[in-house]
Amino acid sequence: MAQQEDVFKKLVSHSKEYGFVFQSSEIYDGLSAVYDYGQNGVELKNNIKKYWWDSMVLLHENVVGIDSAIFMHPTIWKASGHVDAFNDPLIDNKDSKKRYRADVLIEDQMAKFDDKINKEVEKAAKRFGESFDEEQFRATNGRVLEYQAKKEELHTRFAKALNDSNLEDLRQIILDYEIVCPISGTKNWTEVRQFNLMFSTEMGSTAEGAMKVYLRPETAQGIFVNYLNVQKTGRMKIPFGIAQIGKAFRNEIVARQFIFRMREFEQMEMQFFVRPGEELEWFAKWKDTRLKWHKALGLGEKKYRFHDHDKLAHYANAATDIEFEMPFGFKEVEGIHSRTNFDLSSHEQYSGKKLQYFDPETKESYVPYVIETSIGVDRMFLSVMAAAYTEEQLENGETRVVLKLPAALAPVKVAVMPLTKKDGMPDKARQIIDDLKFDFKCQYDEKDSIGKRYRRQDAIGTPFCVTVDHQTLTDNTVTIRFRDTMTQERVAIDQLRGIIADQVSLRNLLKKITE
Ligand code: ATP
Repeated sequence: MAQQEDVFKKLVSHSKEYGFVFQSSEIYDGLSAVYDYGQNGVELKNNIKKYWWDSMVLLHENVVGIDSAIFMHPTIWKASGHVDAFNDPLIDNKDSKKRYRADVLIEDQMAKFDDKINKEVEKAAKRFGESFDEEQFRATNGRVLEYQAKKEELHTRFAKALNDSNLEDLRQIILDYEIVCPISGTKNWTEVRQFNLMFSTEMGSTAEGAMKVYLRPETAQGIFVNYLNVQKTGRMKIPFGIAQIGKAFRNEIVARQFIFRMREFEQMEMQFFVRPGEELEWFAKWKDTRLKWHKALGLGEKKYRFHDHDKLAHYANAATDIEFEMPFGFKEVEGIHSRTNFDLSSHEQYSGKKLQYFDPETKESYVPYVIETSIGVDRMFLSVMAAAYTEEQLENGETRVVLKLPAALAPVKVAVMPLTKKDGMPDKARQIIDDLKFDFKCQYDEKDSIGKRYRRQDAIGTPFCVTVDHQTLTDNTVTIRFRDTMTQERVAIDQLRGIIADQVSLRNLLKKITE
C-alpha cells in the first residue's frame, strides 16, 4: 500500500511538472479541490471527451447531443430532489478539527476486512505453492470466514443506517468499530450532520429582488428539461438517448485525492429514454456497452469491476458503479443508474407541463423511463494517467518515466526532431510538421541530445518520435521511434502519415466497442 501511495504522489508531481494538471490559483496558495488543466492535460482531456462523445453519437443512430446552460431555473433542483436530499453525512474529529464523510469512513473500514482477507490468501499462497487452491481456501479458511462474516455484519448495519438516513446509527457504527481519525488517531467524534452539496449564488439585480440560483451539481437535469424539445425537433422515437458533456459543481466535504474529488468538475452523461417495463433490459445493455468502452482502452482487464449500490438514490430502481483500480484502491469512475420516470414525472408536476411520449406502436402515451450513464471526465483522466504512468529500468541502468497512454488519447501524437541544428535538418523537420499538422498534434524539438528529447516525449506519452538525420537529406527517409518498445525503423517521409494515423485514430477504439 505504501508503495502505491508513493506512486500516487509521483503521479501528482509528474502531472504538474509536465503541464497536465495545476492547482487552481496556485500563486495565491491554491483553492482547495479546484484544478486547472495545462497544455498537455487539456489535450488529453479533449481526447477523452471526443472518445466518449463519438462512442455515443456516432455509434448510436438514436443518441444525439445537447449543450445546456449551467444556470437553470431554481425549481428544477426542487423537482429533482437536490434541494432536499443532495446531502452527505459529515462528521468532525474534535482533536484534528478535520471533517470526514461518515459513509466514507465506514466504507474504508469495510475495505480493511478485505485487506485482511487478501493478506491471509497471500500468506497461504506462499505456504502452499503450486498446489494452492484459492477458491477453496477462501471458502473454508477459518480466519477468512471470520473476517468475511464481520464485514458482512458491518455492511448490513451500514446499508440499513444509510437507507433509513439514521445519522445517530452511522455515528454509533463509527464508535462501535473504533474507527479513528487518520490524522489525530483519536475517536473523539462530533455528531453526524447532513450537509447539502449544492453551491448557490444570486441572479439579477437586488433592487428587483435577486433570485437564488444554483450551480448545477449534475448535467443530467439539463437533459431532462430539454427532453421534449429534442424528441419533437429531432423526431426521436423511443428508445433514444441524449448525451451531454459539461461542468458540474459540488461543495464536497472531503476534497482530497487530487482530481478524484473536485468542487468543480466535468461530467459526460447520457440519458436513455425507454418504454416503462423495458428499463432493466436496457440497464443491462448499457452496463455492457460502457464496460466495453473502458476496456477498449487496454488499460488492463482486471482493473475494472462493477459495484452495485447499497443505497439506491431516491430516484433509482437499479444502480451500479464501474470502479477502476486507482493507486488508492478500486474507486468509482462511472455510475449507471435506472432512474425510472422519477425526474420527468417530477418535472411534470412542478412545471405543470406534460412531458409524455405518444408511442406510435402501442398507441399509448406515457412518461418514459430512463437509464443514465454518468462518468466524470476528471476521474477518467486520473484513471488513464494512473494506468499509463510507468517507471522502467533500462539496460544501461537508467530509469525512464513513460506515460503509456493509449495512442488515440495522447496529447502529442508525434515529435519531429532534427538530429543537429545544421545542414538544413531543422528546415526538413519543419516541412514534415507542416504536412502532418493538419491531422495530428505535432511538436518540434531541437534542444539537447536526442536521448534527452526522447525522454521528454516519453514523459508526456508521445507515441512517435521522428528524427531527421543526414540520410534524410539524401533519400527522404527518417527514423521513427516507438514509445513503448523504444525500437526504431527507417521509413520514407511520405509513409509517416499512414503509420501514425493507423495507431492514433479513434476509429480503432470505437470499433472494439462494437465487436
Ligand atoms: P461519489 O460517491 O464518489 O461522491 P457519486 O456517486 O456522488 O460519487 P454521481 O453523482 O453518480 O457520483 O456522479 C457521476 C460521476 O461523476 C461519478 O462517477 C464521478 O466520475 C463524477 N464525479 C462525481 N462527483 C465528483 C467530484 N466531486 N469530482 C470529480 N468527479 C466527480
